[in-house]
Amino acid sequence: MNHNLSVQELSNGILADNRVILSKAITLAESTLESHHEIISQVLENIADKTGKSLRIGITGVPGVGKSTLIESLGLFLIKQGKKVAVLAVDPTSSVSKGSILGDKTRMEELAKEKNAFIRPTPAGEKLGGVAKSTFETIALCEAAGFDIILIETVGVGQSETLVYEMTDIFLLMQLPNSGDELQGIKRGIMERADLIFINKVEEDNQNFAKQMKIDLTTAIQFLPKKENNWKTKILQGSALENKGITKLWETIEQYFLFVNENNSFQQKRENQLLFHCENYLKDIFFQQLHSIPTYKNQQEKILEKVKNNKIIPYFQINQLVKRFF
Ligand code: GDP
Repeated sequence: MNHNLSVQELSNGILADNRVILSKAITLAESTLESHHEIISQVLENIADKTGKSLRIGITGVPGVGKSTLIESLGLFLIKQGKKVAVLAVDPTSSVSKGSILGDKTRMEELAKEKNAFIRPTPAGEKLGGVAKSTFETIALCEAAGFDIILIETVGVGQSETLVYEMTDIFLLMQLPNSGDELQGIKRGIMERADLIFINKVEEDNQNFAKQMKIDLTTAIQFLPKKENNWKTKILQGSALENKGITKLWETIEQYFLFVNENNSFQQKRENQLLFHCENYLKDIFFQQLHSIPTYKNQQEKILEKVKNNKIIPYFQINQLVKRFF
């Protein structure tokens, strides 16, 4: 059991890429118990200088677009090149909907058999703040275990996408080769974030659709604001199922990493991400602490009642209420 392993045993096990110990450490990172938090933070201190060296790749797209299939093809391709690949998922909706990503054991069957692959399903039933913390820590744990590529999958729903974007070095959006009308359905924010767009399921019978899609996407991205790091979003196509376009996809990802290393935006982005997550975590903790004070909750309820009756937001009273507790 987790508590039988000392911080040192956990740290050594992770550095030796002992998968049982790595999994236990991730479970500790996902735990909400404060004692587990303490252990994992000591482990992370121990292994800190072995973290940060992977390439973190975020993958998003609607359910059914082929994310798992692409991760399997790309993962196998990378393993053949001598890489170690970890696959994580962020989907805080999975506990309420049936669309749990990576939950289905039949997915990524081939990749799962590989010694140099590690697949970790979504932590179940957690709130977004908790998922952010545990995923960030899981990335570090996998890096210390020697994984050079971390693929993080998310469904295109709500804030989980923002979260994955804020944890990865490159963000890949998957699209289906449908007609241009479909573009209306893609949220602008997601298009803005995508560094690469991969049109999947491009096969014999839908070449024309794919062509049109590429034209539409090319037009659409021209109207998006320029990226801070000056990278221009690339549009690729292929078939994850038939293993087509994977080499080109990887070449483009490598090209991206060369580009961001050369213009020094890689480290800058990582630093910004750390600050983003620290600030969010601080907000979460602050909120939780405040709400755990019964007298605060009582008074807050009174204010909320007032909001309902007056239909205005009593900013001043909220401000005064919070200040009373500091
Ligand atoms: P996800 O929900 O985005 O992870 O999508 P999946 O990877 O589970 O794929 C959904 C379905 O589409 C599965 O039946 C896959 O076999 C199929 N699929 C995925 N990629 C391709 C592809 O490139 N071509 C075709 N024809 N089917 C694909």
